[in-house]
Amino acid sequence: TVRTRFAPSPTGYMHVGNLRTALYTWLIARNAGGTFILRIEDTDQVRLIEDATAIIYKTMAECGLTHDEGPDVGGPVGPYVQTDRRDLYGKFAELLIERGHAYRCFCDKDDVAEVDLGDGVAIHKYDGRCSRLSAEEIQANLTAGKPYVIRQKIPTGTTTFHDVTFGDITVDNDTLDDQVLMKRDGLPTYNFANVIDDHLMGITHVVRGSEYLSSAPKYNLLYEAYGWDIPAYVHCSPVMRDATHKMSKRHGDPSYEDLIAQGYLTDAVLNYVALLGWSPKGDQAEQEIFSLEELAKAFDIAGISKSPAIFDTAKLDFFNATYLRNMTPEAFAAKAEPYIRQSVKNPAISVGEIAALLQARCEKLTDIPEKVDFFDALPDYGIDFYTNKKSKTNPEVCATMLKAAIPALEAIETWTNEAVHDTLMGLATTLEVKNATLLWPVRIAAAGKMVTPGGATEICHILGKEETLRRLNVGLA
Ligand code: GLU
Repeated sequence: TVRTRFAPSPTGYMHVGNLRTALYTWLIARNAGGTFILRIEDTDQVRLIEDATAIIYKTMAECGLTHDEGPDVGGPVGPYVQTDRRDLYGKFAELLIERGHAYRCFCDKDDVAEVDLGDGVAIHKYDGRCSRLSAEEIQANLTAGKPYVIRQKIPTGTTTFHDVTFGDITVDNDTLDDQVLMKRDGLPTYNFANVIDDHLMGITHVVRGSEYLSSAPKYNLLYEAYGWDIPAYVHCSPVMRDATHKMSKRHGDPSYEDLIAQGYLTDAVLNYVALLGWSPKGDQAEQEIFSLEELAKAFDIAGISKSPAIFDTAKLDFFNATYLRNMTPEAFAAKAEPYIRQSVKNPAISVGEIAALLQARCEKLTDIPEKVDFFDALPDYGIDFYTNKKSKTNPEVCATMLKAAIPALEAIETWTNEAVHDTLMGLATTLEVKNATLLWPVRIAAAGKMVTPGGATEICHILGKEETLRRLNVGLA
């Protein structure tokens, strides 16, 4: 049965590429009715960032990417934090030394040599001198208490590995370095621990970024040295900011948290991220909107693309607007309320009614405060706002309209949406003008803005009778 793992290093925020890896890994497990595991890869103590693990848990929970096994929920093959597993790696490293696939290296940290591969290609790799130490030299170093790391001994020849998306890849072993497996601090490197853990945890599919493609042959050599089954590798191409640059937090590209802070909905982000590098097949080939459950049903590894995907904010906006529109009015109002209240402080003004106007008209929740600020304070607008070709209005026409609208609205006893609407429609008929000719100046005077969510009726109704009349009189002046 399928067992997949998301194995983040707690080094900071969840960037978009990480989130996508987590999502694909989860989807592969869920699609197959398998098991999804969370493993924390924290053996690189230098890069650890406090709270990063908390961010991982929070993001996974918020996204609904629930894990069946992991540090917090436990499971049969724990512990699930690599530093809690620190004692189990040593014996596997010793086994490799016994079998001639690894050796102790007593060299100083920076004692790596440039190796010329010919054709002017030099790679930075350890020259392997400690692999040639005699048994006596090794013993002397150990007796002297010299610190050492354990390095993988790369054999000569070529190594071929298979990736589900990239196919068979063959490399010349000369290009592989004798990478460090165990560090001086007794902790394994990521490059070693991932192989041991994936094996011990029974992982069937290893989903990771394509930056690990170049390490895959070294992992294969380790699996082979142990005689273990090699999991299916699924390398995912990077998420790009543009044609040539990977997205990167360091260069200001948003993490998952940033996107949420920018007013995007988790579901919309997940849906968009799912399609960054994966496409559905068959009768769903054209479908764009997928819930997480629908994704779990539709997801197949074969749909993962080899080519890098470009993160397109406009496209994400489209997904977000769609998700906002598809919410129930109550759910939308609850989400929108804090954003409305950022600019509409007057407690007499109903959030629910404003939310109803906004729902079909916003791409991001953060667009809201600026769209509705006029409810709290009438902006200082110019006379040219009254000129509108389609409504057949200009400042003179508008003055006539407002003069007629004020007493008509004043006569309304119960200020309902319907009453405002019927009064304005009736007045347009009486005045023998297009509805728009009357509604344009009323809306401009009530809102002081050219573009508003909602029309004259809704805006006047939300403002209330007194404030509407005050504003219409200001518009006349
Ligand atoms: N700890 C690695 C990272 O965060 C995981 C890579 C993998 O999935 O094997 O990039």
